[in-house]
Amino acid sequence: MLYRTDSPEATTEFGRALGERLQPGDVILLSGDLGAGKSVLARGLARGLGIAQAMPSPTFTLMQPYQGRIPFYHFDLYRLDDPDQFYEAGLDEFLGGDGAAVVEWPDCADLHPEPRMDITLSRCEDSDDARLISLELVELDQRREAIEQSLLKWRAES
Ligand code: ADP
Ligand code: MG
Repeated sequence: MLYRTDSPEATTEFGRALGERLQPGDVILLSGDLGAGKSVLARGLARGLGIAQAMPSPTFTLMQPYQGRIPFYHFDLYRLDDPDQFYEAGLDEFLGGDGAAVVEWPDCADLHPEPRMDITLSRCEDSDDARLISLELVELDQRREAIEQSLLKWRAES
């Protein structure tokens, strides 16, 4: 499904709406270029889980845990040199467990867990502040209707 936001605030709200739907074990993979809005969306997800604290990017620590309605693990794998490092550091333990995990730069660790939510953000040509957000639910058919319903107001044409 394709969505569109016209400001960082709208992307935060989109994230919050999705965050309110998250359950233990959920994994959200966030792809897109530098500055696409992955971290903005990740902060929205945290808000939707009731996490109000500041969320600096965990670029050097790779993962920062938070406690909201459920545990929330924020990964930024931009600095990961080698996918093996991810597993050697035991970071895979935080995927599909007691909390929800959101991962920026999942390709750096070659992550394709199932079930998962694949989100790709991209810029729009018509506005500096607009983003297209594609959301693919993988092995999450039972939750598709509820999730898509809560994101309806950001649906893009086509
Ligand atoms: P990433 O984590 O993908 O590298 P960030 O979320 O850190 O990117 O930064 C996105 C930047 O783009 C921010 O400066 C934000 O203000 C800006 N921006 C402009 N329009 C949007 C939008 N619609 N959604 C998200 N961010 C936007
Ligand atoms: Mg980021």
